[in-house]
Amino acid sequence: MPTDNTWPNPSREAAEATLAAINPSAYARTRNHLSGAVTGLSPYLTHGMITLADVYHHVAARHTLPREHSLVRELGWRAFFAHAWAHLQDGIHQSQRPGPLPEAAYATTMPADIAAGCTGVTAIDHAVHTLHTTGLLHNHARLWLASYVVHGRRVHWHTGARWMHSLLLDGDLASNHLSWQWVAGTFSSKPYVFNADNVAQFAPPAWHSRGSAIDLSYPDWQQLATGQRPALPCGPTPAANATPDHVVTQPPPELNWQAPSAPPLRGQRVQLLHPWAVGQLDPHASCRIGVAMAAWHHAHPWHARRWHWIHHAMQPHTTACWWVPHVADLAQALAQASEVSVVANGHMRAAITAIRQALLAHAGAPRLRVIEPPALFAPVQPMARSFSAWWRRTQLA
Ligand SMILES: Cc1cc2nc3c(=O)[nH]c(=O)nc-3n(C[C@H](O)[C@H](O)[C@H](O)COP(=O)(O)OP(=O)(O)OC[C@H]3O[C@@H](n4cnc5c(N)ncnc54)[C@H](O)[C@@H]3O)c2cc1C
Repeated sequence: MPTDNTWPNPSREAAEATLAAINPSAYARTRNHLSGAVTGLSPYLTHGMITLADVYHHVAARHTLPREHSLVRELGWRAFFAHAWAHLQDGIHQSQRPGPLPEAAYATTMPADIAAGCTGVTAIDHAVHTLHTTGLLHNHARLWLASYVVHGRRVHWHTGARWMHSLLLDGDLASNHLSWQWVAGTFSSKPYVFNADNVAQFAPPAWHSRGSAIDLSYPDWQQLATGQRPALPCGPTPAANATPDHVVTQPPPELNWQAPSAPPLRGQRVQLLHPWAVGQLDPHASCRIGVAMAAWHHAHPWHARRWHWIHHAMQPHTTACWWVPHVADLAQALAQASEVSVVANGHMRAAITAIRQALLAHAGAPRLRVIEPPALFAPVQPMARSFSAWWRRTQLA
């Protein structure tokens, strides 16, 4: 399952070419349109091949880029969600405030017609097919799809969030789950709704959905969201093989990730390179080992193609890639190293605590050195519960 040309190239050079192509004024004018000049940076940002600070400094060196520029604000959304996640931790999996309907009003399984992209609503079916083929989706299409799932079909936001995250190449728990909550109205002041007119304004003609189930007025959509109208009808039952399931809980066997073992690490300065910091190389490391923590991946399965993408991205930098079912085995394999470092990231928060503890159990084992990636925005304390509150209180670092 190679990474083909429907997916962006998993290399630092490709990330840099994507950066170089950013046109901030075209972005500001067109970013809400599906054909707009969006950056395509999210797979590189999610996997730490570049940082928000890299993006800002690269663009600001070539263009005027005030803090209020829409590109900086959008980078801010990513940082805001990471900020909220750092405070809420596992709370991102629970509704942060009551939504328009009681939790029990929403289904907790994904309807088969949505998962297969055969709802009969052209915009939704296009969005699902794009997600399946490219692992990516324009922000506006993510909003429409999430709104259709939660408010149109009355499926719980967490069910939708897990489903979308499993298919995304740029899947980031904070941006994804909190965006779904934002659409649901459980992390925002009101539910987000859309309609066929909105699709016609921002999507190419092939997506237009006039005359379909979403062709309602905004007051009608409000009534849908608040349960005063019945949920939208489902599409036909898809064929059994309509959605081949390539979502997996561990690296595909052909990538040959091994259990931790003790190669000659004695005296080495080892960096543990994980999927969310692939490009953040510790200059002091004498050897780098790719690691993926089984506990996390069992809870958050991914598309097999994403494993291939990450594997390709890691390969130039690593001497081995380890799949880690037991943190104690990792610590055992690292015990003879002279130093162990890892880049901090929300996805690795629990793992970093566990690795640190496990290393302490070995007399003479190195302490875990945690590297903080460069921040673009100054930290905000205590937690800001909305983007606007966070934006007022932060500044460019
Ligand atoms: C339901 C839903 C789920 C989402 N899930 C994810 C996810 O799992 N991973 C992810 O990276 N983004 C997610 N987003 C945010 C956004 O849709 C993507 O970051 C964006 O579409 C990526 O395309 P781009 O890089 O061309 O974005 P651009 O518009 O070019 O923006 C540049 C960068 O700014 C950040 N950004 C822009 N808009 C947003 C936003 N609304 N929220 C957070 N960050 C933003 C991203 O890092 C993006 O790469 C989600 C949005 C919604 C509505």
